Amino acid sequence: MSDPKKINERVCPACGARESVHFADERLDNTRVTDYTYASRKQPEFMCHRLVRCTSCNLIYAPAPPDLSFLTSAYAEAAYDSAEEARCAAESYANALAPYVSELTSRTAAIDIGAGNGYLLSWFLRWGFGKAIGVEPSKAAIDAAPEEIRPLLREGMFSAEIVADVRPSLVCSFMTLEHVSEPGQLMRTVYELLEPGGLVAVVVHNWRGLLNRALGMRSPIIDIEHLQLFSPESVSTLLREAGFDHIRVQTITNTYPLRYWLRLTPMHDKLKNRVENVLKRFGAAEVRIPLNVGNLLAVGQKAIGSSK
Ligand SMILES: [Zn+2]
Repeated sequence: MSDPKKINERVCPACGARESVHFADERLDNTRVTDYTYASRKQPEFMCHRLVRCTSCNLIYAPAPPDLSFLTSAYAEAAYDSAEEARCAAESYANALAPYVSELTSRTAAIDIGAGNGYLLSWFLRWGFGKAIGVEPSKAAIDAAPEEIRPLLREGMFSAEIVADVRPSLVCSFMTLEHVSEPGQLMRTVYELLEPGGLVAVVVHNWRGLLNRALGMRSPIIDIEHLQLFSPESVSTLLREAGFDHIRVQTITNTYPLRYWLRLTPMHDKLKNRVENVLKRFGAAEVRIPLNVGNLLAVGQKAIGSSK
C-alpha cells in the first residue's frame, strides 16, 4: 500500500520520486539515547525513525528526519572510542579502492568526507596525492587522530565552503551517506568540486545483502542514525542523478577483530559479555576475521570533457 505523503516530508533523497511504501514503524526510546548514539561503530541499539521504501529505486529512507541543526550538534558532540576498529575499516576500504585509484592520471588532492580519526588520509598520501584532507564533525574523533594526521582534518559538517581551496581528483565518503539528511545534494556538491576525470567513491550498507535481510529488524543497520539505507540499485541511482557516469558497484569484505563482530550481533548484552570473556581467555578476541556483511563500494567518474 502506498504511503500518503505528508506535508514537509522529503521525497526519495536518491532519485527524487514521491511514491513510497511502508517499511518500518518508528522505534524510539529517548531514555536510551546516549553520547554514543551518534558515534561510529558503537553497540547497536535497534532504534529507528519511521522508514519507507522508494518504489522507484528501492532506497529505504526516513521521510521525516531530524533537522540539520540537531544532526550538526549531535555529531559534533558524539563520543569516540573506536580507534582500532577505525584502522581496520580504513584498511578494508583502501584495499577495495586501490584498483580504482590506479586508473587516476591526476592526483592533485583527495578528500575524505566523514574522516573520523583520519586513517584513510595516510593511504591518500601513500598513493601519491599532493594533498590529503579529511572533513569530520566530531571533535572527539579529531582529537583521537594520529599526530601527523590531525593537521589535515577540518572540523565541521561537509560543505563546498569548507574545502573551497581544493580541486580534488578523488573524493571518498565511507559509511557517511546513511547519516546525512540530503545525500543527493552532497553528491552534487562533490561532482562540482571534482576536477574533470575525477572519481567519487562511497561505501554504504546494502539492506538487500543476505545477512541484513536475514536479520531483518535485528540487523545493526536498522539504526536511529541511519536516515537512508542503500542497495546496489539505489546507490547507482544516487551517483547517476548527481551527474556521474562510468558507475561501478561491488560488494566489499570487512576485516575486523572477532570481538567487534561479536558486538554487532543481536545477542543479549549479558551473553555477549560472557562470550567475549571466553574469547579473551583463549586469546581469540583480537583474531582478525574477514567477512562479507553486504557492504557496497560504489565508484563514479566525472566525465573528462565536463565543463563544470
Ligand atoms: Zn528513489
